Amino acid sequence: MQITHVVYDVVVLGAGSTGSVVATRASEDPNKQVCLIESGPDYGDSSNLPDDLVNPYKNSLVDHDWEHSYQPTAERENIQFPRGRVTGGSSAVNTTIALRGIPEDYDHWADLGNSEWSWSNVLPSFIRLERDLDFGSEKYHGDAGPIAIRRHPWSELTASHQAWWETARNLGIPDCDDHNHPDSFGAGAQPMNRIGRLRISTALAYLGAARGRPNLTIQSDTHIRRLIIKKRKVTSVEIQTSDGQVKEIHAKLFVLSTGAIQTPGVLRRSGIGRPDDIEAMGLDLVAQVDGVGHNLQDHPMIALTCELVDPTLALPDMPLIQTVMRYTANDSKHRNDLQIELTSWTQRDDIPSSFALLGVLEHTYGSGSVLTQSSDPLAQPVINSLFCEDDRDASRLTQSLEDCLQFTRSKPLSELISKVSSNSQEVDKLDIEELTSLVRRYAKSGYHPCGTAKMGLSTDPESVVDQYGRSHAIEGLVIADASIIPQIPRANTNLTSIMIGERIGEWIRTDSASYGL
Ligand SMILES: Cc1cc2nc3c(=O)[nH]c(=O)nc-3n(C[C@H](O)[C@H](O)[C@H](O)COP(=O)(O)OP(=O)(O)OC[C@H]3O[C@@H](n4cnc5c(N)ncnc54)[C@H](O)[C@@H]3O)c2cc1C
Repeated sequence: MQITHVVYDVVVLGAGSTGSVVATRASEDPNKQVCLIESGPDYGDSSNLPDDLVNPYKNSLVDHDWEHSYQPTAERENIQFPRGRVTGGSSAVNTTIALRGIPEDYDHWADLGNSEWSWSNVLPSFIRLERDLDFGSEKYHGDAGPIAIRRHPWSELTASHQAWWETARNLGIPDCDDHNHPDSFGAGAQPMNRIGRLRISTALAYLGAARGRPNLTIQSDTHIRRLIIKKRKVTSVEIQTSDGQVKEIHAKLFVLSTGAIQTPGVLRRSGIGRPDDIEAMGLDLVAQVDGVGHNLQDHPMIALTCELVDPTLALPDMPLIQTVMRYTANDSKHRNDLQIELTSWTQRDDIPSSFALLGVLEHTYGSGSVLTQSSDPLAQPVINSLFCEDDRDASRLTQSLEDCLQFTRSKPLSELISKVSSNSQEVDKLDIEELTSLVRRYAKSGYHPCGTAKMGLSTDPESVVDQYGRSHAIEGLVIADASIIPQIPRANTNLTSIMIGERIGEWIRTDSASYGL
């Protein structure tokens, strides 16, 4: 094994939504040598990007993907679980929905012992990360940040999104002009981080500006194998380059940003986790940290497929998402715990022309796990989402399915639809028990995994890091990605992941001593 002789101040492991931002903010201090390591390729600026990363109208699910699979519910076989493998990470392949959680989400994180993450504390970071092209002058918005955000005006909405929104109005749902307003509620245009046909990933928005800095090294096509820990301190990271060479890189501080699915695997391969989990891999336990890989949270969703009278209404070059409805389940304590979205088209070989209504559960009680069964750094994790095992989750997602059905029966949307089904089952005549069992079987991921290395007080045995991202158990180790989220926010998770990078990157730059720098 070769050992590189450069000693960095900070090595950021994983260049996704959060890691790219941490590296950008930390390297604003010219006196800090920062290295950013990424398993996937790095294409530089937008002129070199392949089309799947440029085109924000559909997700890139194959060319820059980790090929993970997951079991959504106990009754299902494994299905694909996409994650981006490229600089920008999942922000480089995603749907570009740029939605903030609501104030109660972050105030709840603070109540769990993470006072730095209250709404009043995170709002300045949400403001700083965005250039909101519609509401930038509002006091709760920014107009000068790296991530450009806009909403499709009515004239740009497809005929089906216009019909969906009119139907919401007819059902008595209020309009919501700005879903990133702290009091947002109702139906309206989805805020999106795309400009025309360009997806604004963190690789473009953040690394684009930072990559010329002499103190920032971006090392792509480099796989992180494990952390090397001596006397409960990380001394180096073991990496594997694309030609198969294994090397060590040394630094004073390591920031693990490999995302909620890969972060538990890197920790366990380094001997950090539950004793049983580590021993099952044939490794020695370095530190018992029970939360690693557990507390997996996500947004379960159920799809209602709508076959269309006019096949030209759903074409795959239309933007997949344009609108959203945020609302609250009956008798729920949690505002905006449900969403309904319309996808402009569905990719189904058996149905020539269709769109889908998605009922999405935004606040969940249940959780799943990410298991690591092998010490091989390239082995796939085992992901069990365990969606809707908690009755409160199953009943609210069923309610959302019923609300989606109500949309399909109401004008003007109903006039576009010839047939409705869910997971190839006719649903129109199903009673509530039958709808609930369909939801328990077919709920699937919204692709928002988080919580697998959650932050919290050291007295909480399930918490992995403190509220500054610092490992409770190991010195010189910070975790900064969606895995540290203690409770999933009621919004798609990209903007929150970027916000986490803004805060931890800024703390590393301005309060270096508390990170041992
Ligand atoms: C298809 C899809 C659609 C989505 N749509 C939306 C959306 O529209 N809006 C929204 O808000 N959210 C969306 N999300 C979720 C959102 O993108 C994620 O929540 C967010 O990107 C998570 O950020 P992260 O930094 O935690 O992880 P990631 O962005 O996934 O970053 C992890 C990085 O680490 C790298 N990495 C992992 N393991 C290793 C290793 N061993 N060695 C080296 N590098 C490694 C990965 O390649 C990746 O670059 C979507 C996700 C997907 C996959």
